Amino acid sequence: MKIQMVDLKSQYEKIKEEVNAGIQDCLDNTAFINGPAVKEFQQDFEKYLDVKHVIPCANGTDALQIAMMALDLKPGDEIICPAFTYVATAEVMGLLGLKPIMVDVDENTFDIELNGLEKYITPNTKAIVPVHLYGQSADMEKILEFAKKHNLFVIEDNAQAIGSDYTFSDGTVRKTGTIGDIGCTSFFPSKNLGCYGDGGALMTNDDDLALKIRMIANHGQEKKYYHKVLGCNSRLDTIQAAVLKVKLKHLDEYSEARNTMADYYDRNLAGISEIQVPIRAKNSTHVFHQYTLRVKNGKRDELQKYLGEKNIPSMIYYPLPLYKQEAFQQYVEEGFSLPATEKLCSEVISLPVHTEFDQDASDTVISEIKNFFNQS
Ligand SMILES: *Cc1c(COP(=O)(O)O)cnc(C)c1O
Repeated sequence: MKIQMVDLKSQYEKIKEEVNAGIQDCLDNTAFINGPAVKEFQQDFEKYLDVKHVIPCANGTDALQIAMMALDLKPGDEIICPAFTYVATAEVMGLLGLKPIMVDVDENTFDIELNGLEKYITPNTKAIVPVHLYGQSADMEKILEFAKKHNLFVIEDNAQAIGSDYTFSDGTVRKTGTIGDIGCTSFFPSKNLGCYGDGGALMTNDDDLALKIRMIANHGQEKKYYHKVLGCNSRLDTIQAAVLKVKLKHLDEYSEARNTMADYYDRNLAGISEIQVPIRAKNSTHVFHQYTLRVKNGKRDELQKYLGEKNIPSMIYYPLPLYKQEAFQQYVEEGFSLPATEKLCSEVISLPVHTEFDQDASDTVISEIKNFFNQS
């Protein structure tokens, strides 16, 4: 059987009956929009995350956009975000007339680099968006301190790290996405908690913000047909909520299986001097949305080609810094460059990670990587 980057099929086989029953229930009740499963999933998710409010929406990109709308950010306001991330993080800023201030990441943790961040602060800086890339938390304690000092909102882009725990220096443990003013996540099928289509959610402990977020996600209305602010139409379908309700119960198991596979890769690949296996952040657990190697001898693209020839999938997240994307040229001076981001774009490669540990698949991936480096 061909190795998959993400094995949603074997995962589905194990929960098939329960998922099918949940979907059938939606069909039987024709409750496609705002059916009971939406509220039920919301409440289960609030409990799981230990957060006061979860507001489901249509996808992770909408979640980010709604967060920025709810914080009353105005055109011209500047928002700090990493340059090494998925486009959605910064794209929504552009759509709202906000200016993304793209900064570097730590080349070991892949998360936003806090040293030297002061130089980006201007009177227009209003928010910071840490991205918990690949499945482990950015250094939230330092980010909160920095945000407090400069009076910034914190919006966590938690699309890749749902379920991971961040530990503060006083021992307090919090789930990522519940630490900043607002957390955003995505239920895209390949995410750690994925549905069978598009879906997303916002998280907050602030009652007023929660009300505002709900209103914005629902055409800016508090009461039907009375529109207080400009909003959008962003809902989680009942069918998707029914799937998520089932999968949420397995999320911790899935994270464990991902960790088992990651540990196995680590043990078997750590001896290869040309690669760097993922470095675990000190204060965060890792949920391995991606298992990402750094290839240090300039042969990343050759390795990917080689693996492809052996039918082993791999992905490059991300090949181009945001500031080099054509769509983002309006936000940077010519020649703008960030050293760690540049380096990572040419070094990273993500390997298959599954929610069911598959020894054979792992062994195949490992032995082909070893073959490649022995040959080259
Ligand atoms: C997936 C992802 C998003 C967007 O989520 P969608 O549901 O696809 O809109 C945003 N940020 C990051 C870091 C992501 O990985």
